[in-house]
Amino acid sequence: NAKAIANPIENELDIDEITDIYIEHNVHPDDREEFKAVATFSAMCAALKEKSSFTYHFRILRDNKISYCYMKCARNGSASSFDKVIMAFALEDYSVKLHNAVKSHNHMSQNQRVSRIYEERFAEALENNEFVVWYQPKFDAVTEKIVGAEALLRWQTPNGMIPPGDFLDVFEGDGLIQILDKYVFRQVCQLQRRRLDKNLPLIPISVNMSRKSLFTPDIVETYKDIADSYGIDTKYIPIEITESLALANKQIKPIADKFISVGFELQMDDFGSGESALNGLNMMHFTVVKLDKSLIDFIGQKNGNLILDYAMALGKELGVKLVAEGVETLKQLDFLRAHHCDFIQGYYFSKPLPLDEFEAKLDA
Ligand code: C2E
Ligand code: CA
Ligand code: CA
Repeated sequence: NAKAIANPIENELDIDEITDIYIEHNVHPDDREEFKAVATFSAMCAALKEKSSFTYHFRILRDNKISYCYMKCARNGSASSFDKVIMAFALEDYSVKLHNAVKSHNHMSQNQRVSRIYEERFAEALENNEFVVWYQPKFDAVTEKIVGAEALLRWQTPNGMIPPGDFLDVFEGDGLIQILDKYVFRQVCQLQRRRLDKNLPLIPISVNMSRKSLFTPDIVETYKDIADSYGIDTKYIPIEITESLALANKQIKPIADKFISVGFELQMDDFGSGESALNGLNMMHFTVVKLDKSLIDFIGQKNGNLILDYAMALGKELGVKLVAEGVETLKQLDFLRAHHCDFIQGYYFSKPLPLDEFEAKLDA
């Protein structure tokens, strides 16, 4: 009997079969949603603490809003059915399987829905130029002049803008992110070309590179060829690689070296955001280290100041330039200046800007 109850849920909560259970257990239509919630929930509890007692599950149920539904059922006489279901789930040894099935069911349906919409729209969006590149200036900490910028991707859909944090993960999974990274790189090349043609001075404009892109075969040749096709010196397009990616993986070193050998500058992004040891900095030839916003946010707190002191002293020792990211206040700026941070990127000076505003600011 327990199996008969559990199986439908294992099979992704088939509606018809669960309806049979509702009927068999005399669950009032008003309580069905909650019944399903309890069944799912108790299966999860069972998976979490497989061999635990019924009391444990009951306590969890009681401690949650689900107890409301339990009580409702108790009132209309179906409580004992509930006990049976919960007991069955708690004691059945395939509760773990059940848990995973339920978990992946919930997980997939949500993520898949978003992913599918994004995937379906990707080609069209690319064609319609919905992906646009914004530019956030990097300022010299002393002169306050713009000395560089970072290219940041935006998705301007007909229904509004989606920030990169919301769609890059999906495309990272799909392998579409390489297309976007390359697209951004090309856009930066085009911008630099236009500036050259207008005899305007160039500043380095960095691009972000995802793990997928970095491990694409012939990635260095591809980027170098694109830069060459626009006649842009690779030193004007530094490549940002996140700390976690750079330090976690030994296979990156040869790729990084190859980028450097054709003239690209590498910048370590999000430094201090992970758990990596500071001495990891030694492993690779980064020219610039970008101190993560999380470190900057701690300025003013005792440990925060200490950690930054240390990170910055180390950076100096290793001969890298330091960029502080996410600088929002004068207090942060003062601290960074006092500690000889080289460059500042953050809302205090400028948010990321659309191309025309960025160029207007640059040439002001
Ligand atoms: P990131 O590389 O760390 O970029 C810096 C992020 O911090 C940007 O968010 C920027 O808008 C934000 N930021 C800068 N200054 C401040 C500040 O003062 N306060 C606050 N609160 N935020 C600040 P954004 O543009 O939303 O990008 C998020 C992330 O998406 C980027 O983080 C980067 O990892 C990724 N990304 C953006 N464009 C690309 C791309 O073309 N390719 C790849 N692979 N990743 C990209
Ligand atoms: Ca970055
Ligand atoms: Ca960053």
